[in-house]
Amino acid sequence: MGDPKESSAKPPVVLIVEDDRVTREYVGGLLRANGMRIKLAETGKKAIDCIGEGGVDIVLLDILMPGLSGIDCCRLIKSMCKEEFLPVILVTAKSDPDSRVEGLRIGADDYVCKPFDERELLARVHGMLRIKEMHDAVANARERLQQLAVQDELTGLYNYRYLHTRLTEEFKRAERYREPLACVMVDIDHFKKFNDQYGHDVGDSVLAEVASRLRCGVREIDVVARYGGEEFLLVLPSTHFSGAITVTDRVWRAVRAVPVEAGGREHHVTVSIGVALYPSRDVRSKDQLLKSADRALYQAKDDGRDRICVFKHQGYIYRPEGQISNSEAPA
Ligand code: GH3
Ligand code: MG
Ligand code: MG
Ligand code: MG
Repeated sequence: MGDPKESSAKPPVVLIVEDDRVTREYVGGLLRANGMRIKLAETGKKAIDCIGEGGVDIVLLDILMPGLSGIDCCRLIKSMCKEEFLPVILVTAKSDPDSRVEGLRIGADDYVCKPFDERELLARVHGMLRIKEMHDAVANARERLQQLAVQDELTGLYNYRYLHTRLTEEFKRAERYREPLACVMVDIDHFKKFNDQYGHDVGDSVLAEVASRLRCGVREIDVVARYGGEEFLLVLPSTHFSGAITVTDRVWRAVRAVPVEAGGREHHVTVSIGVALYPSRDVRSKDQLLKSADRALYQAKDDGRDRICVFKHQGYIYRPEGQISNSEAPA
């Protein structure tokens, strides 16, 4: 359609499943001559293996084959490809209505009878590929929407809503399997000054960079979310006290160790962190876990910022080695 992207798009891959060598090579030659890439399989089993490897866009499937028949093969393909749309066109000498109806009933997308007209076969393949393209576009858009529903746009981290869903799940899991669960609340120190002194864009860049350092400092299974304006929450499943401290210490250092570049300057950024653990005497619910992390964070702020505080009934300050004193802390 004159779209430059279309000409540079990869040619579609057609899998031709046909036990008769002459027909197989003839159909292959025809489609290749029309700009398609071809994979050939002489049995249904080989076709299934080939589809399992991925990269096939459409299947032309003979019905009468020794071993796995085209009908059974089609059934298998359709049960394998539940998420994506892989069109199957039955190409066969069985042209009676019963066979055609049976083929379509078990999930084939179209039907071509041998001997076929070359133009008709090409038109049907192109038609199916168009439908697949539309289907893929809708599936991609849906995936993008699902992602946006759980993601914070500025930082790319999970958003507040998703965080609560996950925290509820993780808490239930921890309770049921008697697993530990750590909750780490992180707040950027004196963040307002970045906005006030350098502008909102610089503030946004600082937020995004801090978010990225937090994400890099944890395991794949840990949840990192933007909890509020310049607050973040880390949920660390199956993590005891010492593990939680190791992670928290790592992210605390990762933020303050290297200045953040934004708006043509380098900015020294620090965070205050509150850590709460389940199970512990005062933490018996998800809300108590969050509240405890929040109280520990408040304590870290109150104690001078740029530090980690672990919630305990009586209050408990953890000082990382080399932690700077209040008088050295940047304003
Ligand atoms: P403290 O050390 O006590 O945490 O001080 P603070 O300045 O970090 O905290 P405060 O709560 O006073 O200010 C937070 C600021 O974060 C205020 C708000 O305008 C800003 N903020 C919240 N969300 C965003 C955002 O998405 N982008 C930018 N640039 N600023 C934001
Ligand atoms: Mg055959
Ligand atoms: Mg703050
Ligand atoms: Mg705050």
